[in-house]
Amino acid sequence: MKQSVWPGDCQGAVSLSFDDGTENQLQRAVPMLDERELKGTFYVPPKGDDYLARYAPWRAVAAKGHEIGNHTLSHTCSRNFRPDIRPEAGLEAMTLAAVEADILEAERRLNELVPDHGPRTFCFPCYTTDVGEGPTRQSYVPVAAKHFVAARAGGEYGFFNHPYNSDLHHLLSTSGQMMTGPELIGLVELAASRGQWCILTFHGIDTGGLGVLTPAFACVLDHLVRQRHRIWTDTVLRVAQHCLQLRADWGHRAG
Ligand SMILES: [Zn+2]
Repeated sequence: MKQSVWPGDCQGAVSLSFDDGTENQLQRAVPMLDERELKGTFYVPPKGDDYLARYAPWRAVAAKGHEIGNHTLSHTCSRNFRPDIRPEAGLEAMTLAAVEADILEAERRLNELVPDHGPRTFCFPCYTTDVGEGPTRQSYVPVAAKHFVAARAGGEYGFFNHPYNSDLHHLLSTSGQMMTGPELIGLVELAASRGQWCILTFHGIDTGGLGVLTPAFACVLDHLVRQRHRIWTDTVLRVAQHCLQLRADWGHRAG
């Protein structure tokens, strides 16, 4: 039988990622992961002058082995998501230098908040990976690649990350928004059947539009616990580092 590329001879990998560093995640998602000894990646934008006090609870989350990732400071998305007409707003009006400064200020604050965290991954707000528009539009994936081990973008339903072939700075993810437990299980099993890495994106638990309901979230977590001998669940950082190691080993063998 062909040996798996994933640790423990697992068939596939899963990362559970959470955007925006909300109170709801601290109250609901973190305890549900901890009860099951699963590790997640939380993309926290440390906003406000009181960021050290406001985001202090994330220090304890990091201490438990979860990843605290960079989600920029300003969380600027495409202007298209705004109801008002402001040509100076949105990623369309930003330069690569401005987006880099925004990311680095978030990084400085996260390092102040969790000094011993080590390397982390990045997450594009609203899955938007470009600045400018039309003829001036350009990707800021290279900015993320300059500063992070990996970066998470969006993706289409049913598409996952190949351990060797995926762009680690444009990782595909699937939103778990309003999905049922069986749908979420179906996704992680589909990825495992292909030997790939499924990254699920969550916002809140029971929080309406962008949320997932508690029973559905518990259902996929329990499945991942029961199937931990077949499916490797870990942070975006640790799975990305594993992919880097695979690629380096392949390079050595090929060279
Ligand atoms: Zn976000």
